[in-house]
Amino acid sequence: MPELPEVETIARELCAGLCGRRITACAVNRPASVETGAPALSRAAFKREIPGLVVAKVWRRAKILIMDLVADGGECAGASTISAPGCASGNRDKGDVRRARSVPGREPGIGVTPPEDSSSKTAAAKASSAAGKTSAAEAPSNVVLHLAVRLGMSGRLWLTAPDSAPEKHTHLAFDLDDGRRLLFIDPRTFGNVRAVPGGRLDAWDAFAALGPEPLEIGPAEFAACFAGRSGKMKALLLDQHRVAGVGNIYADESLFRAGIRPEARADKISEPRLRRLHAALQEVLREAIAENGSSIRDYRDAHGDSGAFQNTFRAYGRAGQPCTVCGTKMTKATVAGRTTSYCRKCQK
Ligand SMILES: [Zn+2]
Repeated sequence: MPELPEVETIARELCAGLCGRRITACAVNRPASVETGAPALSRAAFKREIPGLVVAKVWRRAKILIMDLVADGGECAGASTISAPGCASGNRDKGDVRRARSVPGREPGIGVTPPEDSSSKTAAAKASSAAGKTSAAEAPSNVVLHLAVRLGMSGRLWLTAPDSAPEKHTHLAFDLDDGRRLLFIDPRTFGNVRAVPGGRLDAWDAFAALGPEPLEIGPAEFAACFAGRSGKMKALLLDQHRVAGVGNIYADESLFRAGIRPEARADKISEPRLRRLHAALQEVLREAIAENGSSIRDYRDAHGDSGAFQNTFRAYGRAGQPCTVCGTKMTKATVAGRTTSYCRKCQK
């Protein structure tokens, strides 16, 4: 399942190809791929309301990819999104008023705000709600619909050339005003797409409940998300309500780099070690984004290319192989129902 770096990669690439483009038609080949629970539109409204709208922005929250759609002629209110730099640089050739603007002070190539001084915030809930509000409050006010895509296990968004052959398992297809098509392809059908009215993402329960973005919070906020919790560290890292976007790969990799055993109880881990985990997680996520994510099984980016970060895995999937630090055979375990590998010597 694509995690934060993979979805970030797809969002950046799609933003480059899609921002400023008008959707001229929308085909739903598999109705079940359109989620309709409130506040999302019904399937009939989905097919009716999307054509004519313009893609103003493609961004990411946790593992969810979001396309902000505005009325034709509407202006993108600003690129205050997690994927902003990719968006801004990606559509410079459009000369279009709807292009997203770059955000001063953002670190180029990372796509998130640098961690702020978080010493005044202590509670995980506070950090979580603050981050949630930020992403919602920053959405441009003229967004008509947010098209929110969950890729699930095998979902892909595919931007095709006008003359390309039909793809198998194309459940949704959006025609664009330049003749290309955006396809939602999902062989295993765990993914879905929903259209949420502008500014109402927080009315979607699963979205509102997401924890803060790990690349946007400082070490103190991060530590507060786990302090005093009796759960196993890896299980808490995978819990999208604590921090959002981390899955099996980046949990294993960050815990390895921080020297923390996946099975360790969070409340037995000192604050300095939690801060070390914060640094390790940010480092591994940034490296993975720079490598366009990790390609395992079905993952491909929006151009059908594979990421390269899997070539530098130190822990994930390495059970039975020697530790890259000490040479000890990596241990295999199951934590939170997920296959886990760690070094019993380096990780305590
Ligand atoms: Zn080791």
